[in-house]
Amino acid sequence: MRARILTGLLAAGLFATPAVPVAAAPPTGLVAEVTARMHATAPAAAAEAATPRVNVDRQDNHWAFGTAVLATAPNSDAMPEGWLFVAHREGARWVVALEGEQAFADLSAKAPVVNESERALFAEQNGSQPEAQAGSDWRTGMALPYSVGHTWTMWGGPHGWSGTAAPWSSLDLAGGDQVVRAARAGTAYTMCKGWIRVIHDRGYSTDYYHLWSNINVNGAAVGQGSYLGYTGTDVTCGGSASGRHVHFGLRQNSAYVGIANHNLGKWVPQNGGAAYQGSALHGSARVYAGGSLYNYGALGFTQGIVDANGGSALNKRTGPGTGYAIAGSVADGATVSVSCSANGTTHTGRWGSSSLWNRLTDGTWVSDAFMWTGLNGPVNGYC
Ligand SMILES: [Zn+2]
Repeated sequence: MRARILTGLLAAGLFATPAVPVAAAPPTGLVAEVTARMHATAPAAAAEAATPRVNVDRQDNHWAFGTAVLATAPNSDAMPEGWLFVAHREGARWVVALEGEQAFADLSAKAPVVNESERALFAEQNGSQPEAQAGSDWRTGMALPYSVGHTWTMWGGPHGWSGTAAPWSSLDLAGGDQVVRAARAGTAYTMCKGWIRVIHDRGYSTDYYHLWSNINVNGAAVGQGSYLGYTGTDVTCGGSASGRHVHFGLRQNSAYVGIANHNLGKWVPQNGGAAYQGSALHGSARVYAGGSLYNYGALGFTQGIVDANGGSALNKRTGPGTGYAIAGSVADGATVSVSCSANGTTHTGRWGSSSLWNRLTDGTWVSDAFMWTGLNGPVNGYC
């Protein structure tokens, strides 16, 4: 009856715009349970000072899914903490699991409020994928979070999601056209105002904060380079920003991880003596905090960046060792594609010693000691 009256009023031109449907209120107890779960998970200090912001994006009578954030005071040193959550009503109460907990993957696997592609992604976020374990495989397949071919300033080198706290997961990037883009394809969520999280494959995710005019999404597919927002100084949900930038954080297995030694846009960040210092390497080219980073785009999983360890070029050989004839050279910083690898003579480069040689797609060979591939072993199998 009410709908009929509204329709009649609209037809009569009494309303300039159609009424906006009001979202159903979350079931009683859900927000309280999510909040309790956050307080149980987050460090006590953060929990005390923080304001819970629970956004129930999807729900039915028995399931709920959304984002949960402990927002800190604007212009404080502490950054907000945030999780995706899934909840299942069991009897009279909601059982809540936060991103990073095994129960999150378990509940997501059967929750009708989680879609198939999310299920597959979430299953990779709990560390069950051996190739995604930190320490053995540093490949991300990520570009820097702005347009490929553009140059921005690395305003701050590796530092914590929350300032100086470990791990140093984050970079501050500024300048250029100010358009912040997804570092790799994935599924995007708006955690809080100015804060986007993109869940990627292989257990990785990336966070982007202080954005202006950011997309407002809940599980939207994004491609590498998709628009996320503009650099900004938004601190609505906590933290501080003394100038326009994106605070870009790397996560693996649902937790912040050190960004050093990973590869973004063919740059490999290196920690400095203190947070916000440090540098990034592209071959032998090193840019310190405050310098410019050209976004070369993502390094492929079977590619390497030639690192002549201070030299300008690397000899290519007709076989896997220095006993083979020279077959041209390849410049420091060049991207090469590996077809397969074999053991040969041992050499020591910037990243350590290796007897591995890589056969490139042009049939020539180079020592793996003079190449950043992100893996301490063959990236495309043995020949
Ligand atoms: Zn930052």
